Amino acid sequence: MTEAVIRVEALFKAYDTPAGPFPVLKDVNLAILPGEFVAIMGPSGSGKSTFMNILGCLDRPSEGRYFLSGRNVAELGKDETAALRNRTIGFVFQGFNLLPRMSLADNVALPLVYSAIGHAERRARAQAVLDKVGLGRYADSLPSRISGGQQQRVAIARALVNRPQLILADEPTGNLDSHTGEEIMQVFRALNDEGITIVLITHENDIAAHAKRLVRFLDGRIVEDRPTLSLGLSPASGREKQTFPPLPPAGEGTGERATS
Ligand code: ADP
Ligand code: MG
Repeated sequence: MTEAVIRVEALFKAYDTPAGPFPVLKDVNLAILPGEFVAIMGPSGSGKSTFMNILGCLDRPSEGRYFLSGRNVAELGKDETAALRNRTIGFVFQGFNLLPRMSLADNVALPLVYSAIGHAERRARAQAVLDKVGLGRYADSLPSRISGGQQQRVAIARALVNRPQLILADEPTGNLDSHTGEEIMQVFRALNDEGITIVLITHENDIAAHAKRLVRFLDGRIVEDRPTLSLGLSPASGREKQTFPPLPPAGEGTGERATS
């Protein structure tokens, strides 16, 4: 049997508040296998980000078990958890969170700073993943020189630099116009075609339709879990091999305007 990348069993999460514990996740059970592309949907406040933070080992459940790549996260120490997270997961968020005074290459290489990898190798790996998302020629530019869509590509490159098995993305297209959001989804699809497992939170049906599987949260519970094909609107149906789409020149991208 294939080992799940993610397996959660009877997961509960309550936040401590002055008014007492506030339950947010209520008996969540889910397994995600290698190579899956899962869209997580659900109304605001339904617990999606809380769930994602637990999957990313950024937060711990109140009850239940979480196995990441077969390892029971509760049984790992802090350093072991950090090491497992760093080599297994790449994160992409709604905000691109690039450091403004650092070149794109240095931003992308940042997750390697705490590794034993030397400067030249870090630089080479940053260049390789920037090439992969179509931005290799801007490696020495500052983030302010490129558009919002391009900044999100850089954030994806940064997520890839540790060669993760899994990408967790929390509303990665939330700050982008729909055309640029589609371009970002093409990047995720190309990565998924290479075998990287992707779990992505979105509010938008058009974005979710790029995934292969839809998991819907409502009030802290999973209320729907099915292939996106059954939505009947899926660009993922009849998927063809994806290639990275061509890019507009720097500063002329659609989506967020360059600030320079
Ligand atoms: P979603 O991402 O689906 O919008 P969240 O997981 O962010 O939902 O939040 C779920 C619920 O938990 C919301 O009611 C939110 O206000 C609450 N919540 C989130 N984080 C905290 C926290 N650190 N402390 C207390 N309540 C929180
Ligand atoms: Mg959220």
